[in-house]
Amino acid sequence: MVCYIEKKAFSYPITQYIIDKFSPEIVPITHYKDIFNRSHQNFNRQKNQNTFILAVKDDVSFYKGSKFCNSRGFENFYYSTQILGCLYNCEYCYIGGMYPCGYPVIFVNEDDFLNEAERLKNAYIPISYETDLLAFEGIYPFHKKWIDLARKRPDLLIESRTKSANVDKLPDNPPPNLLLGFSLSPIEINKFEKKAPPLEKRIKALKLAMKKGYNIEIAIDPIIKTDNFKEIYKNFIEYLKNEIDLSKINIEIGAFRMNKDFLKRLRKIHLSEITWYPYEIKDKEARYKDEKEIIEYVKGLT
Ligand code: SF4
Repeated sequence: MVCYIEKKAFSYPITQYIIDKFSPEIVPITHYKDIFNRSHQNFNRQKNQNTFILAVKDDVSFYKGSKFCNSRGFENFYYSTQILGCLYNCEYCYIGGMYPCGYPVIFVNEDDFLNEAERLKNAYIPISYETDLLAFEGIYPFHKKWIDLARKRPDLLIESRTKSANVDKLPDNPPPNLLLGFSLSPIEINKFEKKAPPLEKRIKALKLAMKKGYNIEIAIDPIIKTDNFKEIYKNFIEYLKNEIDLSKINIEIGAFRMNKDFLKRLRKIHLSEITWYPYEIKDKEARYKDEKEIIEYVKGLT
């Protein structure tokens, strides 16, 4: 493992935890952007390099949730971005189109993120935004303090969405306002989700999460309109129904959509049937022409 570490980040417990646990090769840096924002980086190669940037986020503030996303009835809807970038490399992920660098940035001043969350009242706070936070749980137990906060503050709904199978690393008996969302896709789509666990492992993790007492949800988002997609999603939903009682679980469903500029950049990173699909561009967004029908079809299967 290689860690670029901001000089001011050395004194934080997460940094010391990672250094003690992994004995990485350390490269001290002044500011994470000196590495992260360089031009002409090879995103895919960096994704395979087990390299991280540890940094301190100045003036932590959350992003207001987009009006295109489900706010779950909360007026206060804010994202926490404690990590920028992901361990996985899904070909449909906007992160590839947004960031110039494949190395994840871990902000080590976690208490500043928790304090910012504590300032909010009656709020919905996704904590796995621009990352898959649970995928990093093997590096540091990021969820522990969020679960403690959820327990202390029932007016907050804290959501972590994941493709990871790291549920065994989470504590038992969390409060119900800690929502764990499992992002599931058919096995035929897993090939586009590079480095992420396959469907079978995610289902196993989901079952374990239920056993541990987690309030869970399933996300079938994005649906990918690949060849034979109707048959693929029909078999997928049948498989899910055989594995889990879907009647007790909320399922969020959406089809691929992306800001057109991110898509343009993503096409340079992934030469893929997803990125090069002839989407309809409207209001700067790329979407399937028949997005509505695609979503209705999959909803009808559940
Ligand atoms: S797991 Fe989520 S955040 Fe990570 S690359 Fe895939 S879509 Fe993006």
